[in-house]
Amino acid sequence: MLASPESCPALVLNADFRPLSYFPLSLWPWQEAVKAVFLERVNIISEYEQEVHSPSFTMRLPSVISLKEFIPQSRRPAFTRFNVFLRDRFRCQYCREHFPTHELTFDHVIPRSKGGRTSWENVVTACQSCNLIKGDRLPHQSGMLPRRRPVQPTTFELQENGRAFPPNYLHHSWRDFLYWDIELETETL
Ligand SMILES: [Zn+2]
Repeated sequence: MLASPESCPALVLNADFRPLSYFPLSLWPWQEAVKAVFLERVNIISEYEQEVHSPSFTMRLPSVISLKEFIPQSRRPAFTRFNVFLRDRFRCQYCREHFPTHELTFDHVIPRSKGGRTSWENVVTACQSCNLIKGDRLPHQSGMLPRRRPVQPTTFELQENGRAFPPNYLHHSWRDFLYWDIELETETL
């Protein structure tokens, strides 16, 4: 049985055939993808078996589309909670363990009470226990130093980190655009 159109999102690639975004993966609902095809803003790279019909036309739903016009990615990513997690790869920067997002917190390396700023350079991902243990102390008082010195990442670095977290559902037509070069890198090692 064919899936319903609702479960047929299109993977959106930039004009250079890289996904617009890896994490979250750039997916458009089928209506948006079909509309972009009709507006001639995208090329269809791959299709689902699933078709949609209207009185005047029938078309197979696009599974991969690429933008005709290249969208430059901003070099400086937004300083958001999520992007800090992504920079730190969802890993507590003190005990180095992985945690689901809802179990992660933020730690000010130099505590706010001691003049520490809320910035890329002073905020790191921490699990709740490490955050509690470190408390309001300076790194030299607690002996707890972040695994990596926190810096502002580039958009490229965040994209690369996002690649490490594939979405739950991957249509087979998407794989070539997401993982081929990772496999190639592994092979050449
Ligand atoms: Zn921890």
